[in-house]
Order: sequence, then C-alpha cells, then structure tokens
Amino acid sequence: MIKGRCLCGEVSFSVDGPLGRSAACHCSQCRKQSGHYWASSSAEESDIAITGQVKWYEASADAKRGFCPNCGSFLFWKAHDEDAVSFSLGALDEPTGVKLECHIFVADKGDYYVIDDDLPQSEMS
Ligand SMILES: [Zn+2]
Repeated sequence: MIKGRCLCGEVSFSVDGPLGRSAACHCSQCRKQSGHYWASSSAEESDIAITGQVKWYEASADAKRGFCPNCGSFLFWKAHDEDAVSFSLGALDEPTGVKLECHIFVADKGDYYVIDDDLPQSEMS
C-alpha cells in the first residue's frame, strides 16, 4: 500500500493496486503548477482512496488538476476520458518503492535545465 499526503496534511491518499508508469512530465502546465517538472505515477481511480477535500482545477478541456486548498500542494492529475488518476511522487511517504521510468513532453521542457539521466525521453506523452 502506497500512501501520500499534502504539505499540511489536510489531504492524504492511499493506493492499493497496480501502478502505472512513473514519469517526469516537462509540459508547461505541470511546470507552472509544480514549480519544475512533475513526477507522478498513476493508478485506477477505484484503487485510490482520498481523505480530505481536493480542489480540482479544470486546466484544459482534456484534464483536471487536483491540489490541497489549504497548502496548495499539487497532488493529482486526471484526464476526463481515462479511469486512471496520476498522483505526485513527491507527496509519497518513504520508502516509496517507486522509481522514475521516463521523461515525457520533453519537447515542452523549460530552457533553464538539462535532463542528464539515462531514462527514456519522449517528445510528447
Ligand atoms: Zn494541504
């Protein structure tokens, strides 16, 4: 069972089920909301139990982004046409048991850093 929480603790979550890919997303939306690129994994919505009130921001026609309304921690991303919910790896209790697997949306990455590990990169998702 994986557990995580926001900075203040008003929102916490646990994941009981198989995880999707763990990815660092370099898209401009993730960078603006997180402050840098966003590391997340995902699970089926039915496998994620959330405690507390998440504020959802409709960032685009395709997806919404969830954060704690008290401390602002960016915790979740969900595409409207998928059952999976992505969650922040930075919010997880350690040991997480998770390793980053890839970089995505690198075509949209910021100009202020280089990606200097050997993980696979994709231009888009
Ligand atoms: Zn909080």
